[in-house]
Amino acid sequence: MEIIAGVHQIKVPFPKGTSGHTNVYVVEGSEGSILIDSGWDSTESLWALREGLTTERLKLRDIKKVVITHIHPDHYGLASKIKQLCGARIAMHRVEAELIGSRYEDFSELLKKTEEELRQNGVPQTELPQLKDASLWMNQFVTPDLPDVMVDDGDRISNGSFEIEVLWTPGHSPGHICLYEPRKRLLFSGDHVLYDTTPNIGFHPQSGDNPLGDYISSLEKLERFKVNFVLPGHGPTFNSLKLRVSEILYHHEQRKKNILKVMSDGLKTAYQIAEGVLWMPEQGGVAFRDLASWDRRLAVMETIAHLKLLAVEGKVGNIDMDGASLYLRKD
Ligand SMILES: [Zn+2]
Ligand SMILES: [Zn+2]
Repeated sequence: MEIIAGVHQIKVPFPKGTSGHTNVYVVEGSEGSILIDSGWDSTESLWALREGLTTERLKLRDIKKVVITHIHPDHYGLASKIKQLCGARIAMHRVEAELIGSRYEDFSELLKKTEEELRQNGVPQTELPQLKDASLWMNQFVTPDLPDVMVDDGDRISNGSFEIEVLWTPGHSPGHICLYEPRKRLLFSGDHVLYDTTPNIGFHPQSGDNPLGDYISSLEKLERFKVNFVLPGHGPTFNSLKLRVSEILYHHEQRKKNILKVMSDGLKTAYQIAEGVLWMPEQGGVAFRDLASWDRRLAVMETIAHLKLLAVEGKVGNIDMDGASLYLRKD
């Protein structure tokens, strides 16, 4: 579907058994097309992408660059296969490139660190294996490959017709990038800003020390760009970037208040705090115990991300007791 002259969207489905799709964008140019993100490496995804790139206007062989907003499987999984098919060069932020090996190739150390972090934060022994391994199934849908081009904040990527600026927007992932096209004022937002869901921001071994602090700074960074259309990695495209950013900031403010409220009766682990918060407000609120193991893990990691930011703000303190990390309100 052509969204704006020269910019097309292909909806690439998630693998069988999961629901949703990734919005992949094709930016046409006199020197070849740029593909933004790729989708999972699954038969359905590859099929959808090939179909989208076999039209009168769009051809797979015209793809010269694949720019990856971040290395989550739904954005990066299929990049390597596309490269094999058409010889395109893969580009991503250097911080993101550094995470590929430990996440997708030799991930035993990452699993060990994740387990240790979950244990320290109060996940009960009986739940640990489930939560530790909750994302392992995703790896079968990623063919890891290092990028050909590493990009940094402010770099420009051109295809003769469009010149796109790289905006480093860490938070959802530490090397996440948005792509800004100043002439038509387009923002390809990846998972940084979505219209109908709030991107998950979690503390984990690959997240950096204060991912929520980074995320909020990355949202504020977008304020100086004039944007007419936001083209996100999932869900509908939209116009009102400022409004959506303020809604997301409000969501985190509310969650922060909930967390502080749950902490009003003494020392608690992140897991105990997560148990007291109502999750998925977009769906009317779901109790922690009713979440699937993958969502419970995200909830614990998001709670830790909030606690890390609250600690930086001086609102909570943290002590280690018998290998457990405990948090306490300071007021
Ligand atoms: Zn993501
Ligand atoms: Zn995504």
